[in-house]
Amino acid sequence: MNQKISMSRPSVGEAGRTGDWRSSRPVMRAELCLAAKAGKVTCQLCWLYCPDACITQGMPPEIELEYCKGCGICAEECPAHAIEMVPERAHGVCEMPGGAAR
Ligand code: SF4
Ligand code: SF4
Repeated sequence: MNQKISMSRPSVGEAGRTGDWRSSRPVMRAELCLAAKAGKVTCQLCWLYCPDACITQGMPPEIELEYCKGCGICAEECPAHAIEMVPERAHGVCEMPGGAAR
């Protein structure tokens, strides 16, 4: 049987660079990633579930922070707890409108 599936390609969405308004960011701990430990592109659940398609497949997968909105789904779905959500203020890059640091 000839089957067709729909797929969307990564692109800049309507919200633009969602990384601009993120309040927390995913931090990858490669030593825990199942793909990195296996040395092959396996698992990839973070890539599969990211709603912004800003994770690329890899060992470990790479997260494009320019388009990550910080939803935390990748961290929730990772079976190895290899992704940790860290507040942006911990990186000293979070600013309130008007320029005041948070
Ligand atoms: S926090 Fe959300 S948007 Fe960012 S990489 Fe994870 S799933 Fe994607
Ligand atoms: S979901 Fe977790 S273990 Fe699986 S590839 Fe992503 S970071 Fe690695």
